[in-house]
Amino acid sequence: MSSAEQFEVAVIGAGAMGSAAAWQLARRGHSVILLEQFGEGHQRGSSHGATRIFRVAYRDPTYVRLASESLRAWAELEQESGQVLLEQSGQIDHGDPAAIEEVANNLEAAGFKAQRLSPTQAQDLWPGMRFDQAVVHSVDGGRVFADRTVQTLQRCATARGVTVAFHEPVHSIDSTADGVVLQTPRRRVHARMLVIAAGAWVEDLLPGEFLLPKLTVSEQVPVHFSKRNSSLSWPSFLHHMHTNAEALTFGAYGMESPFSGSAASGSGVSNTERLGVKVGVDNATDVDQVAAYIKEWHPGLHPEPVSSTQCLFTSTADQQFILQRQGPIVVCSTCSGHGFKFTPMIGELVADLCEGRPARYNFSAATSASEPKSG
Ligand SMILES: Cc1cc2nc3c(=O)[nH]c(=O)nc-3n(C[C@H](O)[C@H](O)[C@H](O)COP(=O)(O)OP(=O)(O)OC[C@H]3O[C@@H](n4cnc5c(N)ncnc54)[C@H](O)[C@@H]3O)c2cc1C
Repeated sequence: MSSAEQFEVAVIGAGAMGSAAAWQLARRGHSVILLEQFGEGHQRGSSHGATRIFRVAYRDPTYVRLASESLRAWAELEQESGQVLLEQSGQIDHGDPAAIEEVANNLEAAGFKAQRLSPTQAQDLWPGMRFDQAVVHSVDGGRVFADRTVQTLQRCATARGVTVAFHEPVHSIDSTADGVVLQTPRRRVHARMLVIAAGAWVEDLLPGEFLLPKLTVSEQVPVHFSKRNSSLSWPSFLHHMHTNAEALTFGAYGMESPFSGSAASGSGVSNTERLGVKVGVDNATDVDQVAAYIKEWHPGLHPEPVSSTQCLFTSTADQQFILQRQGPIVVCSTCSGHGFKFTPMIGELVADLCEGRPARYNFSAATSASEPKSG
């Protein structure tokens, strides 16, 4: 058998989180290999697509603090890469008044601006949308550019000496006295530490003794809609629609986003027009359900979808993040529909755990279950 290549840290999964972990570890001087089962820029996980919502507005103050620290981490990545990755173009939460008041109070407590608006005031600012209850506008929110971020992280990691290996599924993980040995079809890797950032595949890779909260994987269908009038603008938005008996909030989310694909016939939109609004609705299993939401809440959009994608959503029951170390293994499962906005900061927290530093966040005590399920 061939001898194992030696690294301080092996990272499984080159989605947003694994790529961020590899970059942050390399910034701290560690030798790192990043192993990805599919090709560069693949669309089979959770991190593909042009955009994701960025917001500092959360009902749980843990995530307000994390988003606040993430602003610094995004700036560091932008500075190193020279790329624009975060656009603070504004974000609103609207709907359930109790939820909106909580969001507004949390923003103010953390030193962020929170502009409370009546439905009429909001309607005047964003006439393409409909509002019926409370609204809060956060100027610090906006969107992040997802594909560009993943690409940038991998490029910056490579520039700092990380070996980035595509088409290399990790088939086995064996513990050794001083770390782990991984097997891919092409190589054996020995590493002192292992980061598993495998998204929807995380449970397939976990050694039996590693106990995690139950994870559910589902397919989400974000759908693009085109504007009736190109002069209309949309903020990134979260719509808090209702809360069920288990205190889980259901809602919808969306943001202005470029789309690819041709316009639906009859939508009146030319194929060259490519900026639309990407919308997802909690629990919607097909495009028609999202289109029904658009008809009711977004009079400024053509309700015929222009394109849709599929994206895997890996969630714990209460939408908390998993960032946990046991021996030489760190598990990073920070999706639950809302992880992207924290990407470079999650990489930093993973690097802390690999280096044996104390955890800065206790996600098991936090809960984002009272937020809409994604965004
Ligand atoms: C529809 C949707 C909308 C979202 N909207 C937002 C939003 O608006 N704002 C926000 O902040 N967040 C949002 N999110 C969440 C965000 O996109 C995720 O938190 C993030 O993309 C998770 O990245 P990841 O690296 O954990 O997973 P992934 O991107 O899935 O990466 C995991 C990688 O591991 C690889 N892998 C798995 N097994 C192996 C193996 N054995 N060997 C090698 N490689 C392996 C996979 O191929 C994959 O590339 C949304 C998510 C979805 C699905």
